[in-house]
Amino acid sequence: MASKISVLGSTGSIGTQTLDVARMHNLQVTALTANSNIKLLEEQAREFHPKMVAVLDMGAAAQLKIALSDTDIDVFCGEEGIICAAQEETCDTVVNAIVGVAGLLPTLKAIESRKNLALANKETLVSGGKLVMSAIDRFGVKLYPVDSEHSAIFQCLQGCPRNSLKKVILTASGGSFFGKTREDLENVTVRQALTHPNWDMGAKITIDSATMMNKGLEVIEASWLFGCEDRDIDVLIHRESIIHSMIQLKDNAVIAQLGVPDMRIPIQYALTYPRRLPSPTRELDLAEVASMTFYRPDYETFSCLAICRDALRMGGLYPTVANAANEVAVAMFLREQIRFLDIPDIVSETVNQFHENKDNFDLEDILTTDHNTRAKVNEKYGHTSL
Ligand code: NAD
Ligand code: MG
Repeated sequence: MASKISVLGSTGSIGTQTLDVARMHNLQVTALTANSNIKLLEEQAREFHPKMVAVLDMGAAAQLKIALSDTDIDVFCGEEGIICAAQEETCDTVVNAIVGVAGLLPTLKAIESRKNLALANKETLVSGGKLVMSAIDRFGVKLYPVDSEHSAIFQCLQGCPRNSLKKVILTASGGSFFGKTREDLENVTVRQALTHPNWDMGAKITIDSATMMNKGLEVIEASWLFGCEDRDIDVLIHRESIIHSMIQLKDNAVIAQLGVPDMRIPIQYALTYPRRLPSPTRELDLAEVASMTFYRPDYETFSCLAICRDALRMGGLYPTVANAANEVAVAMFLREQIRFLDIPDIVSETVNQFHENKDNFDLEDILTTDHNTRAKVNEKYGHTSL
């Protein structure tokens, strides 16, 4: 079980819920980081007394340094600051709750410093899964999934003999626009896309849920975590978000993990594994849920899911390209520079126009491909206006 944790992205949705769990179980917090929200970061620092905090934005870091000058908490800034937090000497487990591929380097640095990882940041595995998994082996550390579907699969696998897994079944809520046609989606607004039926999450993942890119990223994430091929990963729409995912074993037995949709359950399991401790969440009342529904995904309307599956099958740097194009497209949509349906179109066009794939690649290749993809998407679509 973790006892001293550094929380990267502590001001976000997963970060604040991680601190709820830390508060309940008296975990020591050794470092906290944020992009720029220093008001909340200061409050967190005063409550949890970490050894250090880090802020990506230099100006915000300078302000925080003044604000915390009456304490002995060190304040760091920039990417190097975030990496220092990932490597903080006394910490045993790093919770990576950063959004986007910006979490990749801190993940790798934490592993190299022999920290266990509670990983929410799925883009790390989508873009750099090969490097992360081999570093995990090389440095002999543990990786505990926080994403609810992957935590569910990890929980279902406890006690199953090795090699008994036939396939994983990822459940998906279907996001804000389940059942809609492409026509219906032509003029949807940012506010509509940000209204998720079951979960209260950061803006990027909520848009990813609406396009179903999130489930595509999760298929790739599952392939790394559980050693599965694309054909061994099913996606099933389950509107109620009560079954968090399932596994099917070789004898066709299916095991599911259920619970109220509250991320503090998977966060806590990642931090207390293998123990099961009381939780700040509600109990599941199945009589209240009454019925659960299941549907096959609509791969044509929600084409991001199909694009991610293609990228996984093509392998190499394709997932890096799909992820980078999506990150830029989602940011543009949130700024109302492009329309909702432009997101899948941009991701698909960018993946189709990528011809520099490599099977043997290193970190430099990933970072360069990520950078070049972002630059291309910005250049090509950055001037579009609605
Ligand atoms: P969020 O936007 O609420 O929070 C992101 C955090 O990362 C914030 O603290 C922010 O300050 C920090 N951050 C943002 N950009 C950064 C950068 N470039 N460098 C360093 N720090 C940066 O996001 P979230 O919803 O908490 O999601 C975090 C990660 O967890 C994502 O990868 C998401 O896919 C995954 N996840 C989230 C949920 C959820 O319920 N929110 C569920 C499953 C998985
Ligand atoms: Mg998920």
